[in-house]
Amino acid sequence: MRNADKTKEQLIEELEALRLRTAELEKLEAERKRAEGELQAEKNKLQSVIDAMEDGLTIQDTGYNIIYQSEPLRIIFGDHVGEKCYRVYEGKEKLCDGCPVEKAFRNGKSHTSERKVVMPSGEIAFWENTANPIRDARGEVVSCLEITRNITERKQAEKALERQKAYFQQLFDNSPEGIALLDDADRVVQVNKGFETLFGYQTEEVKGRFINEVVVPGDRIEEASAMSQATFNGKVVHRRETVRKRKDGSLVDVSALGYPIQFGDKLVGIYAIYSDITERKRAGEALEESEKKYRTLFTESRDALFISSRDGKLIDANQSFLDLFAYTREEAIGLDVRKTYVNPDDRLKYQQEMEQKGAVRDYELKLCKKDGTEIDCLLTATVRRTKDGGILGYHGFIHDITERKRAEEEKRELEQKAHLASRLASVGEMASGIAHEINNPLTAVIGFAQLLMDADLPEDVKEDIGVIHKEAQRAAGVAKNLLTFARKQASVKQMINMNSIIEEVLELRAYEQRVSNIQVNTRFAPKLPEVMADYSQMQQVFINIILNAEAAMLEAHHRGTLTVTTQKVNNTVRASFADSGPGIVKENLNRIFDPFFTTKEVGKGTGLGLSVCHGIIAEHGGRLYARSKLGNGATFVVELPVNAH
Ligand code: ADP
Repeated sequence: MRNADKTKEQLIEELEALRLRTAELEKLEAERKRAEGELQAEKNKLQSVIDAMEDGLTIQDTGYNIIYQSEPLRIIFGDHVGEKCYRVYEGKEKLCDGCPVEKAFRNGKSHTSERKVVMPSGEIAFWENTANPIRDARGEVVSCLEITRNITERKQAEKALERQKAYFQQLFDNSPEGIALLDDADRVVQVNKGFETLFGYQTEEVKGRFINEVVVPGDRIEEASAMSQATFNGKVVHRRETVRKRKDGSLVDVSALGYPIQFGDKLVGIYAIYSDITERKRAGEALEESEKKYRTLFTESRDALFISSRDGKLIDANQSFLDLFAYTREEAIGLDVRKTYVNPDDRLKYQQEMEQKGAVRDYELKLCKKDGTEIDCLLTATVRRTKDGGILGYHGFIHDITERKRAEEEKRELEQKAHLASRLASVGEMASGIAHEINNPLTAVIGFAQLLMDADLPEDVKEDIGVIHKEAQRAAGVAKNLLTFARKQASVKQMINMNSIIEEVLELRAYEQRVSNIQVNTRFAPKLPEVMADYSQMQQVFINIILNAEAAMLEAHHRGTLTVTTQKVNNTVRASFADSGPGIVKENLNRIFDPFFTTKEVGKGTGLGLSVCHGIIAEHGGRLYARSKLGNGATFVVELPVNAH
């Protein structure tokens, strides 16, 4: 129908419909625009999410041309849309080996691979690439989305972990100790080479077995499980020297160490570590054996053995030492060794010599027992040193030579006595002969001199005759002395106290001594036993010794000190007279007892005094001797036996 044919109503109707349609179209257009805007916004949002992702996204078509690159990749590599993927990321002209995209295209499935990439900056990075195939509406794979994740850090951490694992693994594998890694129920998880060497088992043989059933001998099961228990419960290390069993059934001495393995707070197992201590034990036993040997030698030696510290403490001593010095072990250990010296200063001298030479041999010393009894000793000792050469102390042995010395002395004395006796005898005979010969003319000289002195003569002549008379009398005195010396008088002995005799003699000399500045000190033993002796002969001996001492001190210093000591020593009473005079030179010490030996000027001494004294004391079964150091005074010692009759 043409428009002209249409009715007005019809036209209006159509117009209205047209208008409605236009409005609808406009609405649709607006709707489309809005939807398009929304889509764009959505796309932008998605884009920004993709760009914000740390992982890089690449979409490639089936020819491996890049269709899309996300922001992170663009920043690093630049915009390469349209270029071949392998050229852009790998700088290659062909597909990379193991390309996941190629696999995704081939299989239509996702594929992941890792690869090492050199970044444009030159840095090495590790990537994990996952290729996801993209299909069109018909299901055909048309492109591929590749997600690239930078796993460099993870890789490095893994590597570090692996290295660490390798360190520990090697420590475990190569440790010379036998190590068994146990689970939390004491079952073997793994053993190392050391374990195999020690016990003969490899991991495969023992894996899953209770360790105590593997290496513990029957009688040690309790001890071993107690040890595991303790390690589990206390979560502490336990070490024990014990015995374990090898695969072949033989036993081995080990040091077993239980070491808990914790993971966080949880105890997950135990390291059981075994060291073979057979050698050490053997060496220890050998050492013990040799120590025992030396200890036996030490304890059973008949010589007195000692170990002392440098500052003078006795550290150890054997039974012979204790016997010699009469100390109990308790008293001896820790004892100040100077107490065993008669003269404690000797220790210093011995010490100096020892430290200078490193050792001393047969060093002569006067030592004393606990009760003070003197012993003559020979000391042989060596310096004990620390590893760096410092001096710790000394050790050595003491040889008691008291008996030997006494015997030697006795022999010497006997020889001396015999010598003296024979000399005395011949000298005595000669002396008495001379004395008689001289006595007769002297009696005449004295008698006539006496007569002349009474006669009427000029005074000066009388004076001269007086001199003749006096000198002749002195000569007669000497002759008389000689006769006394020669005459063998029998002594009259009785029980007497030496202290009293000495006291009386000293009293006789008290005045003279006072005026001559001689001081006398007496140290008398209070309970001195009596001795059998001739009273007047003893007096004669002591007066002689005292007069000699006085004379010596006065001549040298015009003064002096005489110290008189009495004591009981063993079976003798000893009286010592120590003066502060000039002393006696060594070569004269023995000669002073010879008759006629004198150092006094002519007319002052006869040299008979000491020889007479010596004879008297010898006749009493005693000893008279002198000790002296030149310049240090002289000491005369009289010893008389207590029980002599
Ligand atoms: P004399 O007294 O007549 O010389 P002795 O036999 O008594 O004879 O003494 C012999 C010598 O011994 C003395 O000359 C003297 O050299 C020496 N002597 C004796 N006693 C002492 C003394 N205490 N100090 C030093 N010398 C002494």
